[in-house]
Amino acid sequence: QAKSLGKSAYVFYDESVEKQAQEKISLLAELKKAIDNNSLDFHLQGQFDQTDSPSGAELLCRWNSPIHGFVSPAVFIPLAEENGLAFELGNLAIDNAIRFVQILDEFGYNLRVAVNISPLHLMHPDFVTVLQEKIAASGLYPNRFELEVTESSFLGDEIRAGNIINELRKMGYKMAMDDFGTGYSSLSYIRKLDFDVIKIDRAFVTDLESDYKAQLLLQGIISICNELGVETVAEGIETQEQMDMLQRMGVTSFQGFYLGRPVPIEAFIDSLKKAE
Ligand code: C2E
Ligand code: MG
Ligand code: MG
Ligand code: MG
Repeated sequence: QAKSLGKSAYVFYDESVEKQAQEKISLLAELKKAIDNNSLDFHLQGQFDQTDSPSGAELLCRWNSPIHGFVSPAVFIPLAEENGLAFELGNLAIDNAIRFVQILDEFGYNLRVAVNISPLHLMHPDFVTVLQEKIAASGLYPNRFELEVTESSFLGDEIRAGNIINELRKMGYKMAMDDFGTGYSSLSYIRKLDFDVIKIDRAFVTDLESDYKAQLLLQGIISICNELGVETVAEGIETQEQMDMLQRMGVTSFQGFYLGRPVPIEAFIDSLKKAE
């Protein structure tokens, strides 16, 4: 009895693992296709300053697969990273960021576009060269682009990652530390490196009203950044109360569903027009 139970449990487990593996293989094949056919979409989510004026936008990748439907970036970005697609996907993001800055210019909006740069893209030997080629060909200034990197970029070769970030900053790109406060060494990186922008992770913002420690920590971080001349962007603002608290704390820019969801460029420009 015990033996047969054990066996069937094992078989059940085995099947579900196999199913998951097949699902992943199919997802990966579809993702490769989507990258090759240039069928990923890119949305923009607005960022606003202390006077509610738009100050920039974050580029966010969207994938609507014909087979799998909408797949979250939290799923397909790591999948791309694990399978050698970070460079290709990252370059698509840069191409779209350039295109969007050009479109914004055509409409008279001199906004900065923030691009998420995955660790393997940042560390790719051709990253800086290819980026510079693309930007030079566009005729745009590097300061129209903010490059968001996360703490995980430093897990491989900390010194090299730091050097690349410094190099990009010298070239004129705005460098941002994304998801600040979620890792283990956020503070040590703002001490060692010069970031233009710190993006305060949504987790801090979500807990703000109920968590006194989160308030104190955040107030400290914001004060330090203001003292250093580092911009702060609060992510994931969903309520007026969060907005009010962050405003009082001296955050420089605000981003979240309360202020605007990520939308296609056409809708983003419409929202800018409406806000005028
Ligand atoms: P992230 O860079 O921290 O982006 C912010 C995420 O928070 C986005 O999720 C955005 O849609 C979501 N968000 C914004 N405001 C709110 C809010 O008020 N409430 C809530 N609950 N969420 C909010 P998304 O688009 O699903 O992207 C998830 C992550 O995937 C991003 O986190 C980023 O790490 C990665 N990602 C997205 N697009 C790209 C890309 O083009 N390239 C790379 N390398 N990574 C990307
Ligand atoms: Mg980001
Ligand atoms: Mg973030
Ligand atoms: Mg994140």
